[in-house]
Amino acid sequence: MSQSPAFQRVAILGVGLIGGSLARDLRASGSVGEVVGIEPDPATLDRARQRGLIDRGETDPESGVRDADVVVVAVPVGSFGEALAAIRPGLSEGVVVTDVGSVKGPVQAEAEEALAGAAAFVGGHPIAGTEDSGVDAAVPDLFRDALCVLTRTGTTPEWAVTRIRRLWEGVGGEVVCMDPEEHDRILAATSHLPHMLAFALIRTFAGLSAGPGVERFAAGGFRDLTRIAGSDAIMWRDIALANAPALLATIDRFQERLRELRYAIEAGDGETLEGLLREARELRRGLAGDADESGTGNDRGS
Ligand code: NAP
Repeated sequence: MSQSPAFQRVAILGVGLIGGSLARDLRASGSVGEVVGIEPDPATLDRARQRGLIDRGETDPESGVRDADVVVVAVPVGSFGEALAAIRPGLSEGVVVTDVGSVKGPVQAEAEEALAGAAAFVGGHPIAGTEDSGVDAAVPDLFRDALCVLTRTGTTPEWAVTRIRRLWEGVGGEVVCMDPEEHDRILAATSHLPHMLAFALIRTFAGLSAGPGVERFAAGGFRDLTRIAGSDAIMWRDIALANAPALLATIDRFQERLRELRYAIEAGDGETLEGLLREARELRRGLAGDADESGTGNDRGS
């Protein structure tokens, strides 16, 4: 006798890279009776159905979330407020709303205020992704063995956290819980700063390029470091602005480290320079696990 699914219906608002990949894996896991995709553009929903990502598509958020046990908001961070307002009237009793946004402090506060009295909210952020976006960027098994951060505050019910934990574990994720602020501090250093550096680095190259064909001299290190500069501009605009305090503090720390290198080079101080480079090399070698050495292009997300 087949077991009944853990979730009757999961509605996913935003069927792009993250929403589409999650929808696909939830369907494949058999843990959900029906996966509903919600997008304003019917062509995106047609494409999502053709690709087998969703069971059903809805352009209207209010009817799309009806009778869902879980609603996953998977839109750019800057569209989050608008998305919450659009889903609220359709939410059923006992539903848990979660998200996948790369910034958690402001998102959690906004959600708790917008959904008060209507639904429980658990913040979510799967540390998985690529620099591609849109429905065609969705891929299978994106979350297998990936960390999925869940964030909560003093008012988040335990049963709601348990439900969202089960959702991510059902697609192979490893769940960790933390404060929204702690998440934002850590991700500013491990993801948001590296993306800003990649954007700045590729623009530095454009300023230096003396003529056609100069990009042929871009070495492997340059390509590795700038790959994520191919990421979506709107998504990164939203992330940088939403996490501005933590990101600015991290940029300042980085500028200090760069200044140390500059001083040593300017002074011709090989000993200091070598010491700084050796220290960095040891730190890099000590890093546990490096997702991108798999060669999959999965940069473990933003
Ligand atoms: P994406 O591929 O661009 O997908 C976002 C989807 O949401 C698009 O299909 C977009 O449609 C749709 N959308 C935008 N506003 C909407 C609205 N108000 N209502 C319904 N649908 C809407 O972006 P993504 O990379 O999946 O990122 C989504 C979220 O995941 C972001 O919050 C990001 O911070 C987070 N995240 C991203 C990564 C990563 O590596 N990319 C990793 C972890 C978490 P249109 O294209 O028509 O606008």
